[in-house]
Formats: sequence, C-alpha cells, structure tokens
Amino acid sequence: MALNCSDFPAGYGRSILSLCMVVFLMVATISCTEKTDLKSRKVVLVILDGIPASVIEKVDTPNFDSIALAGGYARAWLGGEKGGYSETPTISAVGYNSMLTGTWVNKHNVKDNKIQLPNYHYWTIFRYFKESFPDRKIAIYSTWLDNRTKLLGEGLTETGNLKLDYHFDGLEVDTVRFPHDTLSQYIYEIDKLVATKAAEQIRDFAPDLTWIYLQYTDDMGHRYGNSPEMDVAVREADRQLGEIWKAIQYREKNHQEEYLLIVTTDHGRAQGGFHHGGQSDEEREIWMASNIKFNERFSQNPAVVDIFPTVATFLNIPIPRDHEMELDGVSLQGEVFASNLTGTIDKGTLKINWKEFGKNEDGKVWITFGNQFRYGKEDEYLLLGEVNLADGFAEFDFSPYTFKNGKVVLETPTGFLNYWVKNVQK
Ligand SMILES: [Zn+2]
Repeated sequence: MALNCSDFPAGYGRSILSLCMVVFLMVATISCTEKTDLKSRKVVLVILDGIPASVIEKVDTPNFDSIALAGGYARAWLGGEKGGYSETPTISAVGYNSMLTGTWVNKHNVKDNKIQLPNYHYWTIFRYFKESFPDRKIAIYSTWLDNRTKLLGEGLTETGNLKLDYHFDGLEVDTVRFPHDTLSQYIYEIDKLVATKAAEQIRDFAPDLTWIYLQYTDDMGHRYGNSPEMDVAVREADRQLGEIWKAIQYREKNHQEEYLLIVTTDHGRAQGGFHHGGQSDEEREIWMASNIKFNERFSQNPAVVDIFPTVATFLNIPIPRDHEMELDGVSLQGEVFASNLTGTIDKGTLKINWKEFGKNEDGKVWITFGNQFRYGKEDEYLLLGEVNLADGFAEFDFSPYTFKNGKVVLETPTGFLNYWVKNVQK
C-alpha cells in the first residue's frame, strides 16, 4: 500500500459514533499514560537520507505504513525562513543538526557537510538528555561517522565530553573491508549492517535515546534521480526500517517500555530528484512519520526543528529557560498554543504575528537587544507586555527604543517562539 497524506487525517470524525470513539480513546490514552512510568519511555529517531515526500508516498513501504498507521504521517519542511535570517541550506548534515539542536543554521552554524564550526552552545537533545539523566543510555547507529564525532561532538570539551553508551558507525572509513565503488554498493552493504545492529541492540539493550542514520537512498537520488533505482533503494530502506520497528514492538510487548519512533528525511530533491542544497519548495519539503499520535501542529506542516521539543516533552527532559527561548520548533506532543512567529518594525511600531490555535490564554512578549546566547552567555530580556494567544498578532510602541537587532520571544503556557527583528530606521 502506498501512502497518501489524506490517509491520515487529523481532526475528529463528525458522527456521534466517532465522537464516542474519540472520547473512549482519550480516556484509554489518559489511563495508559498514568500507568506508564516515565523512566520506561524511550525514543528512536531514524533519518532515511534524501527521500522526497512524493517518493515515500508512492513506493510500496509496508513497514513505514505500519508505523504511520499506528501514529501518523505528515509532509513537513526545513530550511528556516526562506530569504530571511534563518534561511538554512537543504544539505544533509545541516538538516541533521537542525533536528538535533531544534534550531536553524543561524544558530547551530553547521552550514554544510564539512561541519567546520558547529556552535555547541546550542546543545543537541542527546546532550540535554545525558546531562539530565547520566545513568540512562544513548546510542547511535550510523552510516556516517561525523554524526557522532562532529554533530553530537562525542568527547569534545565543548560538549561536556558527551559519551555515547552504544555506537555502531564509521564502517565507511574502512576502505579495506568496504572498498568505495562508484555505484555505492558499499553504502548499501553498510546500511544493512547498521540497521541490523540497531535492531539487535534495541532488542537486547533498549537504549533510552537512539539515532539511526541510513544513507543509501541519497546516493541513488544523486545518481539516478526519480527512478526505478531510487524506488528499489526506498523499498530496501523500508525493509531495514522493518527490522527496527519489529525490535521496538518486541520491547513494548515484553518489557514495561513505551517508545516514540520518529522517521524522517533530511531534505527533499529538485530537478527530477537529483539535486538538493537550494531553497526550492521541493528541496525544502520533507516528511515525518511517527508511531504515536501528535497534536494539531503535526497536521499543519510541522518542521524538522519540532522534533527536539517533541523528544524533550516525551522523555520529560528539563530544558533551561534561556535554552528553551532559543528553540525554533514547537512540540508535537501536548497542547500547542502558537507557532510561526514573525515580526517587523514599521515607523516605530513592532508588529508581531503568529499562527494561533484558538486558545484564549495569556502569552508574554519579551525582547532582548543582544545575542549573548551564541557565546554561551545570558541575554537580558525586557518584558514588552501580555497578549491573548488567540489574537494571532500584537503591536508595541517602539519609538523610545534605539537598537539595530532585537530577538523577540513569545512565551506560551507550553513553550516559546522566537524571531529576530531589524530596526531599519535606526
Ligand atoms: Zn541528505
């Protein structure tokens, strides 16, 4: 069965019967949640490299479909604000790091696959998890070594000497065992080993937070574009995903564990499925599937940066307030009050807009005129005022202020949104 976005509608059914079902499911969900010990919650993040939404939806992917049927599937996006200060290249490592840090490139500073100067002040979700729960286990299974050594930054002083409890990666640098052929057969073989090892270790050791990265689909996209070869690669990725999904189901059945599995990709593709890196709609479009149901943000075009706060919510990871104020995503778990904050300054008036979710709750608007966070220091915020989050917009008199750039933060009952404004008249 091929997937279609409309197979997984959000929203509740209209009939009394389906309303009853919803109420029943909500009661069932609440009682399940109450019974679940938070310590047994675990997360597995899977990135299948460079598969366009149109391809994952078209190709026969029974395991992917099974996950999406349990939870949901949505087209999603990345790339920051197109033409704006947070515009982010649609390049692999850049996309991974947006997922890991919950921020766009203007913050995490991984601009391409060279990963030259990551700004480790924007911590990865792995670091937050390990700092909060040092006894719990983190794992990576990856066809690219840099994901552990550079993005997660294992063993670096800048990451507090983060240490993965389990890893299986770096096979691609062993050119004796895996000679590099032009058809990427070696990547095909490595992906198979990585997926199998991940499934084995989830079954045997059940790490608490796991990242799995498989590459072969991207190689086929670059070589063949949208093609039968790409479709074959996607089917193989789905078979590998099936091993992982089975291991998760095994753990849930035989142990007191509850998993959040998120499967996503790191960019779309343009020009017939060959290329990526630019800002076309096709390159910025990704997708996400999850084995658990998400909130209404999920059905309204979620972003790759939403994964960080979602994992933090699910695993109950405490994120310090000043760090949370920097996050560019919105949690797909729990209640959502606002998203997509933007702002301008026009003739001495700050005008901000956000997507509202019809919630009559108070929000607070803060501003800071510096950006000390990027240096590992604290920003001093000024409270501009309170707003009704159902309004979707607010205005503030800015005539007294002289500044060049300001970081505006909208505080909601469950998180923060931020947006940088330029004071062009000054
Ligand atoms: Zn990629």
